[in-house]
Amino acid sequence: MATKHDWTKEEILEIYNKPFMELLYEAATIHRLHHDPNTVQVSTLLSIKTGGCPEDCGYCPQAARYHTDLEGNDLMSVNQVKAQALRAKASGSSRVCMGAAWRNVKDGEEFDNVLEMVRTINKLDMEVCCTLGMLTENQAQRLAEAGLYAYNHNLDSSEEYYKEVISTRGFEDRLKTIDNVRKTNVTVCSGGIIGMGETVEDRAGMLVALSTLNPQPESVPINALVPVEGTPLEEQEQVPIWDMIRMVATTRIVMPETQVRLSAGRTQMSREGQAMCFFAGANSIFAGDKLLTTPNPDVSEDMEMFKALGLNPQKPFVKKSQPESVDAENSKFQNLGEKPKWSRPGHTIDRNIAAQQKAKPKA
Ligand code: SF4
Repeated sequence: MATKHDWTKEEILEIYNKPFMELLYEAATIHRLHHDPNTVQVSTLLSIKTGGCPEDCGYCPQAARYHTDLEGNDLMSVNQVKAQALRAKASGSSRVCMGAAWRNVKDGEEFDNVLEMVRTINKLDMEVCCTLGMLTENQAQRLAEAGLYAYNHNLDSSEEYYKEVISTRGFEDRLKTIDNVRKTNVTVCSGGIIGMGETVEDRAGMLVALSTLNPQPESVPINALVPVEGTPLEEQEQVPIWDMIRMVATTRIVMPETQVRLSAGRTQMSREGQAMCFFAGANSIFAGDKLLTTPNPDVSEDMEMFKALGLNPQKPFVKKSQPESVDAENSKFQNLGEKPKWSRPGHTIDRNIAAQQKAKPKA
């Protein structure tokens, strides 16, 4: 059956609000038609540059303007990244996702180093993903040429609620970066966060934005907010497990081919809760004791859970063949010294401003 790309908010809400058992059964049925239900892809998320970000994402301890206990780090070296990737591979990960707390990629030495990290990990026969902020088309092409497998750029929420969380760039800027990635052979990873105070309509709105992309993203991470002290969303209540399962199931139904990834918030979920998410169509997790800056279950705990559930980690390059890495000296692309253009929405978010004020030392 051809993938449907014209989902409406009403249709998605109807799915999300189905009686729980019916929703679960439908999602599990679709899941089995498109995926092996006993295989789960395991990714390791590595923060290659932590903190000091100029953006104001209300959930993020890496935003320089909020006062959190986060310890920042400059860009890691290629050797450090290689050592971490080897560890990840030995513990069953098929993918390494490198995250840098940047507003956007800037051409220059640091980006050249990231390209080298991509080549290095690809040559270890692992899938390489990056999340580096906004990208130009040329930067996306350079990443593709280095052997990047996936690029992550989350939509975070619905277009409407996005404005309540981030004021320093617009929703359309996110779509533009995804579009630049789509002009290459790199796959798209894009999802969002629930539990930021959004309505169920907003959750459906986010799924409309993702599922009407053509092609749909190859991976969709679903995060449950982990509130961090000092950020504007520090007092947000933990999202109920039922909401997480409903969100996973709905994502599976509207994006049947996609890898649905259980991302942040797994430490707050029981094994039984996670098992229901796998049943409802989640088929990917982030492994490692940290997800950029928030805690995550230990790898050995995950492997115990996999054993109990009879799940197997997915091998790399099952969905798409391994890209070739072109060495820097043979690159077809020039460093254009580009900066992506982004909108400056010009609105303010009271709780973000309040969090920033609180962070300022009193005179
Ligand atoms: S989510 Fe990314 S862009 Fe937003 S503040 Fe954090 S590091 Fe910066």
